[in-house]
Amino acid sequence: FKKITLQKEQGDELVQVGHTFNHMIELLEQNFKNQQRFISDASHELRTPLTVIESYAKLLKRWGKAKPEVLDESIEAIYSESLRMKSLTNQLLDSIKNQSYLDSHGEFTSSIEEVLSECIKNLKQAYQREFKWSGIKEGLLVQLNPLELKQIFYILFENAIKYSDGNIEVTTKREDQYVVISIKDQGIGIEPDHIPFIFERFYRVDEARSRDTGGSGLGLSIAKGLVEKYKGDILVKSEPGKFTIFTLKLPIGKGVIQ
Ligand code: ADP
Repeated sequence: FKKITLQKEQGDELVQVGHTFNHMIELLEQNFKNQQRFISDASHELRTPLTVIESYAKLLKRWGKAKPEVLDESIEAIYSESLRMKSLTNQLLDSIKNQSYLDSHGEFTSSIEEVLSECIKNLKQAYQREFKWSGIKEGLLVQLNPLELKQIFYILFENAIKYSDGNIEVTTKREDQYVVISIKDQGIGIEPDHIPFIFERFYRVDEARSRDTGGSGLGLSIAKGLVEKYKGDILVKSEPGKFTIFTLKLPIGKGVIQ
């Protein structure tokens, strides 16, 4: 897109037309950027539910006929992950209708217990990893859309899975007007020099690249965007070679779970 420059000598009306034209170009550029951003974010986000669906489908194929409990659990997980994918694709359609997908949000309340236990169950199944969850579980509500909350958890858990080998520890508690959730792994950690940049789009630490984890550098920027949309916060603490803790501070939910 190219803007035009008009001088006063060319007449007031023409200058006005020039301004309008340049403004339209700015809007077009912004729209174009929003759509490009959504496409890359959506492709990143569609991968996790697909991985979960794939692993449950595998389980069904192997045990579905012999074990009724496997049948029930797999169908439920496949159904709920498909709903999530549908919601993401609807957001994609909305963004094509020119609404930035990061702008749209209504009044939501989600239960940490429900969303977190579902995420843990699905990721255990998909990646065969163990999670230890301590702290308050019941009655923690946050002011977030449950689908987006799941999206944030998936991003942080998948990073913990990618960049460590051991158990992943989760703690949940209340602090003033926030629910605080920490996710700790004992993995490669992050050097202090990199910490200020990890929430930037496409930023990846070199070590992570050489470890060839197949990441894209998008996850944390998506998580941060979602958390900030709901006036929450996301913090990180790490010791290279020892541990990484991501802490989410999410505003306490007031309404009824939807
Ligand atoms: P990626 O797709 O590369 O994982 P992210 O935006 O999710 O992208 O993360 C950005 C970078 O932050 C990663 O490439 C990695 O270097 C670092 N990182 C994120 N989470 C962790 C973690 N739990 N342990 C170590 N490094 C991490």
